[in-house]
Amino acid sequence: MSRTRRDPRTPPALPAAGLRVVALGGLGEIGRNMTVFEHAGKLLIVDCGVLFPEEHQPGIDVILPDFTSIRDRLDDVVAVVLTHGHEDHIGGVPYLLRERRDIPVVGSKLTLAFIEAKLKEHKITPVTEQVAEGDELRLGPFDLEFLAVNHSIPDALAVAIRTAAGLVLHTGDFKMDQFPLDQRITDLRGFARLGEEGVDLFLTDSTNADVPGFTTSEGELTPAIDTVFRTAPKRVIVSSFASHVHRIQQVLDAAHEHGRKVAFVGRSMVRNMGIARDLGYLRVPKGLVVDMKVLEKLPADQVCLICTGSQGEPMAALSRMANRDHVIRISEGDTVLLASSLIPGNENAIYRIINEFTKIGANVVHKGNAKVHVSGHASAGELVYCYNIVKPRNVMPVHGESRHLRANADLAIRTGVDPKRVVIVEDGVVVDLVDGRVSVTGKVPAGNVYVDGNTVGGATEASLKDRRTLAEEGVITVVAIVDADTGQLAEAPDFLARGFVHEAANFDAAVPVIERELARAAADGVTDAAQLEELIGRAVAGWANRAHRRAPVVIPVVIDA
Ligand SMILES: [Zn+2]
Repeated sequence: MSRTRRDPRTPPALPAAGLRVVALGGLGEIGRNMTVFEHAGKLLIVDCGVLFPEEHQPGIDVILPDFTSIRDRLDDVVAVVLTHGHEDHIGGVPYLLRERRDIPVVGSKLTLAFIEAKLKEHKITPVTEQVAEGDELRLGPFDLEFLAVNHSIPDALAVAIRTAAGLVLHTGDFKMDQFPLDQRITDLRGFARLGEEGVDLFLTDSTNADVPGFTTSEGELTPAIDTVFRTAPKRVIVSSFASHVHRIQQVLDAAHEHGRKVAFVGRSMVRNMGIARDLGYLRVPKGLVVDMKVLEKLPADQVCLICTGSQGEPMAALSRMANRDHVIRISEGDTVLLASSLIPGNENAIYRIINEFTKIGANVVHKGNAKVHVSGHASAGELVYCYNIVKPRNVMPVHGESRHLRANADLAIRTGVDPKRVVIVEDGVVVDLVDGRVSVTGKVPAGNVYVDGNTVGGATEASLKDRRTLAEEGVITVVAIVDADTGQLAEAPDFLARGFVHEAANFDAAVPVIERELARAAADGVTDAAQLEELIGRAVAGWANRAHRRAPVVIPVVIDA
């Protein structure tokens, strides 16, 4: 009897009554959240976000989920549902719609307004379907129900997905603030109702699963923010996410209270706050927000600027102010308020900015020294409540680095979920829900897709390695003119070095190394220029390592004499 071996990475066909769940992003990282649900031959996508690059990814603008596994099935996609308007949930949509323009985009009023503004910049007019909490929507074989959740952006939704395979509840990003500015709390009564019906698979936000207790209410920040405005001797410069409507509302209220005028700085901040104001999510007292030109003429203690860049993003207003590369110059006595969280990976960039402003003589207020920010994500206590209310049969922690996913899984198990029914998986792992049980059945590609200028997917891990090496070790170009008859150097090779520590060094010592390599190649009958280049490259790299303990990028060029 012969058995055909199946690639363990390729999942088997999905049983007719099964549901397949594949996260293409958001598992093992904070960002580019994207989950694909498959049932009865159709696909439903929940969120499509971007991940922001770290220092070891030079030259990269954003990182996208890998669409490879759905690329030849785009016609089966019934919709992309956006749980809320954060970049790590909507930023990838323009790139997804480039592949198929008419994928319906489903989301709440504010979420759709944010994504439509973004898509306009990409010259894409999407097909949209606006929903609100309490709404139900049938999309192919998926029956959706939307529930209000509270998060660091208004109008966030959780989504319940009913199919023949069972009931799934995906929280999106959420927390359980009982006193939010807009009084729109997470719909725990809805969660409980679904729990009574029987939740077969619960996907929950893991971002703060390793933080004990409960996330502090937004309302408790008001005194600290008020103190900043009451005591600041000169200008107040606030940096926050361009989508944190409620935090910015608190800042506007404090500025108004203490007689300051406000200007928004930065394209995304101006755009999003305009949208939030037009749609009624941001209340702006008359005459409070003014043009930069008006603001510049006011005394410093009547000025408040609100800008982006709270994560140290190099191109955002705040970094450029720290580098004195912005029309707004921070000066002695100014107060800089960082009303934002520290997303893992951004710490160095943020502390560098704090140091720069401190050196100038500004007073920097941040969550480390004042109660000016709280997270938008549920802490362990809130997650435990949810598990006890929903009583899910199976759990798949989402949105978090490995340690967050593990912590969230442990919480589920502590509330009594069978450990065998809690799946901790990484991006691309295929999870099937069949007969009420989850199991891992395979893996699909889910690597990083880099956006580099106008190029999507052009930069690879190998090219990023080259960039890091170039930055750290420099480059040596060797031009060798080789006599085609003898295989020997026709004349001494040229060396050009950039960024190599021994730029001025004498490369004479490398010449015999090249000569030896060419002699050996000639003896072996190797005459092909590409092969000779490879040999010379390796020889010069070896020489740089032995002689200088360096590993520069070596670019060999062989020219036939
Ligand atoms: Zn979010």
